[in-house]
Amino acid sequence: QHCLENGGEAADFSCTLIHTSGELVWIEMSSVLIEWDGAPATLSFISDVTQKTLLEQQLRDSMAEQMRLQTLQMENDLREAERARIHAEETTAAKSMFLANMSHEIRTPLTVLSGFVETLQSLPVSEEERHRYLDLMAQQSHRMQTLVTDLLTLSRLEGSPLPGMTEHTSMASLWQSCVQDARALAGGGGHACELSHELVFDFDPSLQDEDMAGSRAELQSAMSNLISNALRYTPAGGRVEIGWCRHLPHGVEFWVTDNGPGIAPEHLPRLTERFYRVDRSRSRETGGTGLGLAIVKHVVQRHGGHMQITSVVGQGSRFAFFLPMERLV
Ligand code: ADP
Repeated sequence: QHCLENGGEAADFSCTLIHTSGELVWIEMSSVLIEWDGAPATLSFISDVTQKTLLEQQLRDSMAEQMRLQTLQMENDLREAERARIHAEETTAAKSMFLANMSHEIRTPLTVLSGFVETLQSLPVSEEERHRYLDLMAQQSHRMQTLVTDLLTLSRLEGSPLPGMTEHTSMASLWQSCVQDARALAGGGGHACELSHELVFDFDPSLQDEDMAGSRAELQSAMSNLISNALRYTPAGGRVEIGWCRHLPHGVEFWVTDNGPGIAPEHLPRLTERFYRVDRSRSRETGGTGLGLAIVKHVVQRHGGHMQITSVVGQGSRFAFFLPMERLV
């Protein structure tokens, strides 16, 4: 029909046919108009292009699949880049915040110190006043020293390799130094009658012959920070309980409980942030740097453990850390 309508020009067609076997076949057909026994007729050349068509279809499908995978990959890469950008922004913001906090912490005692120096240089002061000023200056320089020590501890924790399993400390000696620390911090120097607080010790006897794998210095510093906090925030005469216990099968727990002022729930998630303080003036008065719990959290995480803090305002607080059982060797 096409040939007739187009003045006998060759026509190309492609279509599908159902083969006698029932299979679908693709064909391409070219037809030209000829004369056959004096009558118009068409001469058609038919070729089976089923294989070629199927291959083309497969190729198209696989290219579409590849495009889909590449698009997915690009979307993933974009999401990853966005996450990295947000992380970088957060890190920069956290660093700026840390630097701002640190400058503030150092500037305050420095301002007080330079104020006293100026006063002593320019004003005539009595011997008594001079002594008082020098005492206050000593307090401020001590405050700066502890701040720098805590900052160095934190940066050492961040920069040093994770504590491995090769350094072992006996739990008994760790406990021994914990008891000594608590007594010294409570001001007793070993004499119970002089202690500022009632101290209760509770060491799980099943740990007596065990060793702990990890950094002794770091663990000691974590324990000592928690004990010192309990004693500093609990008014004299209060009760502080300290213990180590085994929790089968998960791990070992170090805990310190006090019956001090307690902490309101909204502060609990932020306590381990650097320089976060609930009671700023009590922290300052007792020589706090606002870095103690950040150090504890670092040490505990470096040993594969986690912290747990519970507190009720007016009743007291419980600070604990758990270390994995594999660390008991
Ligand atoms: P600081 O040097 O100020 O004690 P920390 O990081 O050790 O810093 O503690 C953060 C804050 O958590 C403290 O400033 C204090 O407000 C609160 N805190 C810590 N331990 C206790 C506790 N046992 N009882 C009440 N408040 C506590």
